[in-house]
Amino acid sequence: MKEKAVKKYLTLTYGCQMNERDTATIAGLVERSGYQEASSFEEADLIVLNTCSVRHSAENKVYGKLGELKRFKQDKPDMLIALGGCMAQLDEVRDKLKKMGIVDVVFGTHNLHELPYLLEKAEAGLERPVIDVWAEAGGIVENLPARRPGGISAFVNIMFGCNNFCSYCIVPHTRGRERSRHPDDILAEVEGLVEQGVKEVTLLGQNVNSYGRGLESKLDFADLLRMVNQIDGLYRIRFTTSHPRDLSDKLIQAIADCSRVCEHVHAPLQAGSNRILQAMNRGYTCEEYLRLVRQMRATIPGVAITSDLIVGFPGESEEDFRATLAMVEKVRFDSAFTFMYSPRTGTRAADLKEQVPLEIKKERLLRLNEVQYQIAREANRQLENQAVEVLVEGQSKTDSERLTGRTRTNRIVVFEGGKHLVGKLLQVVVREARTFTLYGELPKGEGALR
Ligand code: SF4
Repeated sequence: MKEKAVKKYLTLTYGCQMNERDTATIAGLVERSGYQEASSFEEADLIVLNTCSVRHSAENKVYGKLGELKRFKQDKPDMLIALGGCMAQLDEVRDKLKKMGIVDVVFGTHNLHELPYLLEKAEAGLERPVIDVWAEAGGIVENLPARRPGGISAFVNIMFGCNNFCSYCIVPHTRGRERSRHPDDILAEVEGLVEQGVKEVTLLGQNVNSYGRGLESKLDFADLLRMVNQIDGLYRIRFTTSHPRDLSDKLIQAIADCSRVCEHVHAPLQAGSNRILQAMNRGYTCEEYLRLVRQMRATIPGVAITSDLIVGFPGESEEDFRATLAMVEKVRFDSAFTFMYSPRTGTRAADLKEQVPLEIKKERLLRLNEVQYQIAREANRQLENQAVEVLVEGQSKTDSERLTGRTRTNRIVVFEGGKHLVGKLLQVVVREARTFTLYGELPKGEGALR
């Protein structure tokens, strides 16, 4: 009797680390249904796109990819295409997908766990496309399988959703309100990862600083960090994102006290004009942000502070933009992700008059990058000829003789070394500092700390 061929799948992930973590669950779920990972589109029987809707450009990439996949589907009509993530939560996207006729299954951010069942429905051919998207989150579903490819670092969700409703952001609409995981579930997941050889975890939430709201136990993110910090065998703890409004002195002290917690806080400022911060509904002023910066720098030795910055929010004048430049100069972020404002239907800011013309946004982005890159270069140069602690993540993608890793402050370091050093904590001496990367060398004896 002819053996039944094993079905193969591929995942494509767009957007943030939350999506990367969700993709690990998606992969775990489809593998539990009998699929194996494919090495190419040609080989795949199932392609799952985990999408992002935070900016227009992210959505356009997905539509572009669907156009490309149409070709594969013509040659292989049984191939299933599933689309989940934030785009799937939006009515207008689902309408468009129905018209395009390429996607077989559409699932949302709140019902990932249903994917195997939805795929079966599509395979049975009773319905095409099969669309099941929950408008609101149910409870947190624990113990879903996840494919963790045996890496050094892993993402761990500590909470889902967001209550902040920044006026430009679609996330509360696509990911729902805040729900925190029980600390026992988080600790069990991290302990399991450490047993599998993971050395570094990144605790994830849209706003980790509000972790614990709604939990029965009166526990906050500072308490959680102290608990995770007790886990033997774990080298490093990272976390993201820290909303400045909820960044308490208690949390700053916990970061300073916990030896495994890295000295890096990603606390998006977004804009440097109080008028624009208010219009963004960010809940803090520049003065309050600067106080936090002083507090972090006074309490956490060597802390790196990084940010997201948006230019061209509706109504942003040249004066407002200059205030952002001035804040960037004052704070001196170690690095920043910079964006042009992109209106998202369904958010308050999208309806604001005074949208800033694209040309002006582009010009402001260039000016902002020039200032920020210079600051990042200067900060990196201070590390030249110094030894930094690096957790080796793997071989360089462009040169197998070289390794890449990160400092505790999240700087990328590239240096020559053998594959056997992957997963090790090393001291690396920085020889050349560029804007985004440090180039270093191992001291004699390979500098191994662990
Ligand atoms: S804090 Fe603001 S920007 Fe971040 S996810 Fe929530 S609404 Fe969006």
